[in-house]
Amino acid sequence: MDRRRSLIRLLYPSYLVIVVLTLAAAAWVVFGFVERGALRQTRASLEAQAWLFAAAAEPLLDPAHAADLERLCKERGRRTGTRLTVIWPDGAIEADSEMDPSRMGSHADRPEFREARSGRVGSTIRESSTLGQRMVYVAVPVGAAGRVRAVVRTALPLTLVAHNTKADLRNLAVSGATVAAAAALLAWLVALWLSRPLRRLRAELERLGKGDLSHRLFVPDVEEYGALAKTINEMAAQLEERLRVTTAQRNELEAMLAGMVEAVLVVDADDRVVRMNRAAGLLFGLDPEAARGKTLFRVVRNPDLANLVGRTLSSPGVVETEIALRTDVDRTLQAHGTTLPDERGRPAGALVVLNDVTRLKHLETMRRDFVANVSHELRTPITSIKGFVETLRDGALGDPENARGFLDIVASHADRLNAIIEDLLALSRLEEDTEQDRVVREIARLRPVLKAAIALCAPRASERRVRMDLDCDEALEARVNGPLLEQAVVNLLDNAIKFAEPGTAVFVAARRDSGTGEVLVFVRDEGPGIGTEHLPRLFERFYRVDKARSRKQGGTGLGLSIVKHIAQAHGGRVEVASEMGRGSTFTIRLPAE
Ligand code: ADP
Repeated sequence: MDRRRSLIRLLYPSYLVIVVLTLAAAAWVVFGFVERGALRQTRASLEAQAWLFAAAAEPLLDPAHAADLERLCKERGRRTGTRLTVIWPDGAIEADSEMDPSRMGSHADRPEFREARSGRVGSTIRESSTLGQRMVYVAVPVGAAGRVRAVVRTALPLTLVAHNTKADLRNLAVSGATVAAAAALLAWLVALWLSRPLRRLRAELERLGKGDLSHRLFVPDVEEYGALAKTINEMAAQLEERLRVTTAQRNELEAMLAGMVEAVLVVDADDRVVRMNRAAGLLFGLDPEAARGKTLFRVVRNPDLANLVGRTLSSPGVVETEIALRTDVDRTLQAHGTTLPDERGRPAGALVVLNDVTRLKHLETMRRDFVANVSHELRTPITSIKGFVETLRDGALGDPENARGFLDIVASHADRLNAIIEDLLALSRLEEDTEQDRVVREIARLRPVLKAAIALCAPRASERRVRMDLDCDEALEARVNGPLLEQAVVNLLDNAIKFAEPGTAVFVAARRDSGTGEVLVFVRDEGPGIGTEHLPRLFERFYRVDKARSRKQGGTGLGLSIVKHIAQAHGGRVEVASEMGRGSTFTIRLPAE
């Protein structure tokens, strides 16, 4: 429950208490004044009456006029409503307006009487032993001091004085209550007026609190409220600016992460995924948003990765390792793990950056294999050449017939070395030109290109008694590099002639595929065919079906590889179809324009 109270409710009771207390104190003081004032006034009037009566009574102060004095006293007393008493200096009562003097005892002990007998005005408030009620007495001397002839005393009951003041006090109380009510109302209005800007500030602050930081509070005229509103406005402006900067930085970071080719993932100290960029999502085949908050091992079931995160969290610095990832294809990832410290510098998580190095690895393997293959290919002829040269040097030169045979072998191996090196150079040139897009291609008729290739192979074909047939439309055109395409067809023809049975035919043909628009160049033979197990690797460098036979026939194992690269330089590819005992068909596919 909200136990807080509003400012008005908090202030108002205290206002009321203050108002009531102030008024009560004022009333108390005023009551005192009124009471004392009334008493003072009563005494003064009693004294005046006493003097007046004393003047009137003085000529009658002898026993002869006792009855007159008695009458005067009674009459005056009745008319003024005041008790009048004439007392002899010895305290005996001569006359009294309300009592029979003979029934009254000596008044010599009364303080007011004693005061007057000594020539002064005496006054007391006390219980009257004669009337049995509290009275105000005033006594004055008759005659000069030292020769006081009698004392005249006037008296009024105190209840009469109180009765008179009571009316005044009632009036006073009524006006006091009115003032108190007015003050209370005024206090309420003031409290309302004071709290109004505060309520408006509060309503506006709620807007700020809900996140609308662009809102500014109105600045009230009241200095304190104005300063408060201004300070809050400045604070809101600062907050807004900070938020803007933070948001911009976050967006920058998001954009950077999203644009990175490297996979980036952040896990907290409990191995939960905090963040994962798009590249990481693609790499692991999952939605980065869905992975958030889950344990890393649950999302990516890779022990190497879990191990790397564990090591990163437990050791400072960068941890580096290679991770094998088995998805649809096997990938090799280079991973860097860095600890993410919290504000106190303790490890709060790990940042892992993953680089897909599968292609690099593959290229590396290919390069190693290639170097091994080249070395192997070169070693055979070189060993032979070395062997025959040593034999010649060790004396075979003396046997001219044999020596000539040896030199022929040395020459053929040298030719072979030369052929290998030429093919390798051709390949590397091709690769480089393709990579740098330097292979110039022009629209050209294909028939002349194919005819030139056939012409080049004609001597060997006739040597092997193999016929060559050409089937190509005169008008067929394609975007090609003439010399390269000729080289590719020569390589294919060369193989076909090599493997064809004497008396059979080799077919060269070219046509446009009506469906795809590609231009297809075929070289078909009726040779022994190639086993299906060899087909996938046939176009690799140095791949041969029958190594010994290929070498004997002067093959380098690079011919088909060159064909493949020429097809690729044209944006196309090469295919082979073969059936054992029936022959093979090689097809170069050139892309449609
Ligand atoms: P090579 O220089 O040995 O001929 P190639 O790269 O041209 O090297 O050919 C690779 C291998 O493919 C050859 O060794 C051969 O075994 C096989 N081959 C190529 N063309 C044919 C063909 N028309 N008929 C049968 N086998 C072939």
